[in-house]
Amino acid sequence: MIVASTRAELDQALAEIRGFGKTVGFVPTMGALHRGHAALLERSVAENDVTVLSIYVNPTQFGKNEDLAKYPRTFASDRELASKAGVDIIFHPTDATMYPPGDTTFIDVAGVSAPLCGRFRPGHFRGVTTVVERLFRYVRPTRAYFGQKDMQQCLVIERMVRDLELPVGLVFCPTIREADGLALSSRNAYLSPEDRERAPLIQQSLQEIAHAFAKGERSVAELEALGRARVSADSAFKIQYLEVLTYPDLERVESLNGPGVAAIAAFLGETRLIDNILLESPQK
Ligand code: AMP
Repeated sequence: MIVASTRAELDQALAEIRGFGKTVGFVPTMGALHRGHAALLERSVAENDVTVLSIYVNPTQFGKNEDLAKYPRTFASDRELASKAGVDIIFHPTDATMYPPGDTTFIDVAGVSAPLCGRFRPGHFRGVTTVVERLFRYVRPTRAYFGQKDMQQCLVIERMVRDLELPVGLVFCPTIREADGLALSSRNAYLSPEDRERAPLIQQSLQEIAHAFAKGERSVAELEALGRARVSADSAFKIQYLEVLTYPDLERVESLNGPGVAAIAAFLGETRLIDNILLESPQK
């Protein structure tokens, strides 16, 4: 496994390994890797000749009062996990490599970036799309792998790839969870033991919405009220948003007459957790 930290090192590693007609799978991350990331890596390794993992805590996707400085950085154990998963190249760039001084071009996807996390984290998706497009340009992957846990991020990147006609296939992978349903996240490490015990309520509230949807409830207000009541039963949670929107356009409607998604962001103490569940009618 090669660790590249500059463009030149990455180009050289890719030139040596890629060869004619080899497929390259790419998994962009911010490190602090866990089983959720491992699942993306294993899928990429299974589906491609070469797998590139990027580890970069991207400053432009963090807001002023967010956790950029304290975001966990665990390169030694990340490297071990990557090696076990069969990664060929780790790209671990510095800020100067990703954002050369004087760079002023950003990528902004309108529409699906606006609701949910976009409403509460202004500039977040602009940071994500800007860095992901740069990484795509540097790595030139055949396929790139993203987790459905960050459902809105998947949809925003899908639009960017479509609109800019980027030559990459996108693969969205299911959310990997703890046994009690909590979605794995690098941020779970911030939770106190008491809050860690509470945290599965987030997924349970989404399950409750999905259950009502499966039984025929289509009123968005009713579905949201069910989820909200479930989370609010524990006053430790501060809900930032809990919304049921259409999928994949993320539009607000009164009543779902097609696929939807229930998405939540909630704080436990200082820790912000997100999760989502797709609402799809069974195929007839
Ligand atoms: P991150 O570095 O955690 O922001 O995310 C890097 C990639 O891993 C993104 O595509 C995430 O959606 C994905 N990811 C993070 N957590 C999980 C999870 N629990 N299950 C599946 N994918 C995940």
